[in-house]
Amino acid sequence: MGHNKQGRTVPMTSVGSGTIQLVAHQVHCYTNQIVNVSFVGDRSKWVLVDAGMPHSGSKIMEAAEELFGEGAKPKAIVLTHGHFDHVGSLIELLDEWDVPVYAHPLEAPYLTGETSYNEPDPSVSGGMVAKLSAFFPNKPVDISEHLHNLPHDGTIPFMPGWQWIHTPGHTQGHISIYRASDKTLIAGDAFTTVRQEDMLEVVKQDMEINGPPRYFTPDWEAAELSVKKLAALMPHYVVTGHGVPAFGEELVEGLTNLAGNFQKIAVPEHGKYVDRDK
Ligand SMILES: [Zn+2]
Ligand SMILES: [Zn+2]
Repeated sequence: MGHNKQGRTVPMTSVGSGTIQLVAHQVHCYTNQIVNVSFVGDRSKWVLVDAGMPHSGSKIMEAAEELFGEGAKPKAIVLTHGHFDHVGSLIELLDEWDVPVYAHPLEAPYLTGETSYNEPDPSVSGGMVAKLSAFFPNKPVDISEHLHNLPHDGTIPFMPGWQWIHTPGHTQGHISIYRASDKTLIAGDAFTTVRQEDMLEVVKQDMEINGPPRYFTPDWEAAELSVKKLAALMPHYVVTGHGVPAFGEELVEGLTNLAGNFQKIAVPEHGKYVDRDK
């Protein structure tokens, strides 16, 4: 069992390199090295949100079996966006699970091998991860055969009660996933709950609501609007792509603070995607 900052006990098990944590009703977060994937649903029908780091397919499948039993297979995979740390094991997984993959149409060129993302910007505010980001792959994967656009009406196939929300900035086609009934939010990289650029913070995993990962975010104006959109939902439970799940007052305060002071908290002082340098 693990504890979050409210001292609340949450069910937690360890699998492979990571832990599985129950975040909200039928939402499990699995931490795969530096990134989180989510399992949403129950044994009879579940969806994987994001596909982790490269070479982690077997670990993600192991986590799925731990949760849903032997041979567990999702109905679909939904992507918040196509960065390498969110699609790293996608091809491995699709080899085993022949399932549809849903993403925002603006993300499609990065998922069909057409376009590469901009180079990460290792110059943004110190920290080892920012420096290392120069070595992160930005080559696109090609999953054309499996790729489908998310429905226009905001619904998500196989995820009744959930809606997708366009939250661009970190990438153009970035989405967040929201369940209004209990205010559960899967935010992808729209914001993080850790100072992602700082290696020490990544290791310690203290909760701190922060902007999207700086080294990969090209449009800070859009990113700010997206955070404001998500803060206005006043979510009760949040899973982000990076950092620990967040709950309750600490979450509301942190997210409100980020939305209100986005320029100061999230936007790096300098960097190749920061307007004030131009
Ligand atoms: Zn990202
Ligand atoms: Zn990420």
